[in-house]
Amino acid sequence: MKVMKFGGTSVGKPERMKHIASLLQTETEPAIVVLSALSGTTNALVEIGNAIASGDRHSAQQFINNLTEHYNKFIKELFSKEASLATAQAIVDEHFEFLNIILKISFSESLSKDILAQGELLSTKIFSVYLEEIGESYALLPALEFMSIDENDEPQIGSIRIKLKQLLDQHKEKKILVTQGYICRNARGEVDNLKRGGSDYSASLIAAAISASVCEIWTDIDGMHNNDPRVVGTTRPVEQLSFEEAAELAYFGAKILHPASIWPAQQYKIPVKLLNTMQPEAKGTLITQEPGGHGVKAVAAKDNIYAVRIKSSRMLLAYGFLRKVFEVFEKYKTAIDMITTSEVAVSLTIDNADHLDQIIKELEVLGTVTVDKDQTIVSVVGYNINETEEIIKKLFGSIRSVPIRMVSYGGSPHNISLLVSADEKVHLLKQLNKGMFGLE
Ligand code: ADP
Ligand code: ASP
Ligand code: MG
Repeated sequence: MKVMKFGGTSVGKPERMKHIASLLQTETEPAIVVLSALSGTTNALVEIGNAIASGDRHSAQQFINNLTEHYNKFIKELFSKEASLATAQAIVDEHFEFLNIILKISFSESLSKDILAQGELLSTKIFSVYLEEIGESYALLPALEFMSIDENDEPQIGSIRIKLKQLLDQHKEKKILVTQGYICRNARGEVDNLKRGGSDYSASLIAAAISASVCEIWTDIDGMHNNDPRVVGTTRPVEQLSFEEAAELAYFGAKILHPASIWPAQQYKIPVKLLNTMQPEAKGTLITQEPGGHGVKAVAAKDNIYAVRIKSSRMLLAYGFLRKVFEVFEKYKTAIDMITTSEVAVSLTIDNADHLDQIIKELEVLGTVTVDKDQTIVSVVGYNINETEEIIKKLFGSIRSVPIRMVSYGGSPHNISLLVSADEKVHLLKQLNKGMFGLE
């Protein structure tokens, strides 16, 4: 059995949904089909939640009305049979009635998660009705019945496996098993999610839980490209990546993959393929244990980074100083990405500033603290790229007039990271595209 995940743009238009159904009809292997919400939906649901949270019910109502209209139009275009349209209309009405009811009750954090879950619930139900319309046999597996996270927001593959197996046992004869990406239940049993872009993570967790033959991530581009196609003019797909390389790229900003989506596949040795829904014959990217060649494969950029520097003469020749620094970040459950040290100062980066004020306050006991916000980490990724000096020469030889705030080299053999001010990002990605890949 394989896993096939289709992202927002792949299901975002009626003709694309039809296209997915025809892709599935050509499949011989049974598949768990993981769907995202239609493109733009989760963003709209975030806006609705924010408006309700801030007490702006008028705007929330407006957002709900706009989204309702979008779905009404979508299903009218998708279905050709009256009966299927009526079934889909009842589904759409039910979900939007839910949103309209939420408008009238007092807001809570868990309610906002319920709002966010509507996108994937809608897309999978609408797609299921479409499969019915075209006479395709399928089963819908509710993600909220098997996908769960613990009190630390960590998914537990063991329990996912047991619950998913029970559901699969009920539908042994089915070749198409549709389920929702992104949504899950938390340790309190409430509806929750795997964070933005989390459908990739759902797919990889499911693939690990069922020991799938492959985890296919179908999106709007033919694989992982060598650079961010939203930023630079010319990019090309990378044919093969190791799990380590893919994880570095996903973590350091390549939006095509959710940052956590590689570890389940890697741990359970499931090959991952990145494929283009609009161009299914394109090779895409294969991600396995094997690196598929040495040298630099790609660069990626991670935005909204904060650089924190702690300077203290007490650090001089002192041991235990870094432990005290790390303890502060641990206390506030804030992950550190990059770190560099000198004899009297330590600089590190974080992307979660939720507790920054408290963190600074506690660090000030240890030394003088300065914080630079609006920073970007640009990561250069390739298998064992620290083995030759050629790469580092080429890397720095490519850069002109871009002040580098921090460099991380040697932490992983597959990654060299540079920290720059956010307004230098485009400049730097373009220079690297030219210098490292010979592309404009
Ligand atoms: P989906 O809705 O299918 O999950 P996403 O929008 O999350 O799709 O991810 C696909 C997008 O990721 C592409 O359209 C592309 O703009 C962006 N992207 C950023 N960096 C890369 C990269 N290195 N390679 C490929 N795509 C990338
Ligand atoms: N719909 C969710 C989002 O937009 C999850 C996903 O698309 O992967 O973030
Ligand atoms: Mg995505």
